[in-house]
Amino acid sequence: MSAAETSRIQEYIGDPVSDAPAVDREKLEEIFQDIQADLRFDHELNGCLNCGICTATCPAAHYYDFSPREIVQLLWTENLEGIHDAMQEKIWSCAQCYTCAARCPFGNSPGGLVMLMRETAIKHGMESAKNVLRPFSRVMLKLISTGNQLSPDMITPDGFADWGPNVAKVDAPLELLRKAIPMPTLHTTKTAWEVNLKTSVELYTIWEETGVLDSLETIDENLFDVILDIMDEKRDDYEDWMDEQD
Ligand code: SF4
Ligand code: SF4
Repeated sequence: MSAAETSRIQEYIGDPVSDAPAVDREKLEEIFQDIQADLRFDHELNGCLNCGICTATCPAAHYYDFSPREIVQLLWTENLEGIHDAMQEKIWSCAQCYTCAARCPFGNSPGGLVMLMRETAIKHGMESAKNVLRPFSRVMLKLISTGNQLSPDMITPDGFADWGPNVAKVDAPLELLRKAIPMPTLHTTKTAWEVNLKTSVELYTIWEETGVLDSLETIDENLFDVILDIMDEKRDDYEDWMDEQD
């Protein structure tokens, strides 16, 4: 038997009972560097007393296997494997309420750090990010193409089964009811309010310049293609409208 086969030195120091494939050190470092390189990182992590006040006041920690103290400790001690591991599930439990940030004696923002980890998970196309965002593709389509997150025509008994009997309250002739609102911009049910072409086109530039579209392409290529078509169409409409003004 060769020395290599009998060596007791582990090549990968990870969870010995996990079936998950090992992630090489280079990749772990790249992920951490992406989190750390964000301008917000130094504002949101100033040290950690390990006091647990954040976890004691965190609503998500009451219901899930999640602790903001643990997240902060992983980042503060630069535990690369632990950070990667937390990005597979735990970070998606945070409700982004920022109670932790209001209470931390060190002025940390565990919720803000979770947000950086989520953005990095999306950037790296992690399966956890795809799985979490998949049910929201309808909302993302509406939000990115119109700037409105939810529109009256999306609130249907089928779409909101989790509302239980309360959904009956919105099962109403919305087209008619919206017409009764004094403000004309609210006379539509396709968006929460009418979005004019110029605003839409400006919004698309913001999505492009801030990297939102790149993130979307990493997470959901089909949705990205659909949104690109909508953007092209709206931009053509805007140019036609501008020509008409001339
Ligand atoms: S409250 Fe602040 S100092 Fe205390 S464990 Fe949480 S992050 Fe660390
Ligand atoms: S922002 Fe997240 S981590 Fe902070 S208290 Fe709210 S749920 Fe907990």
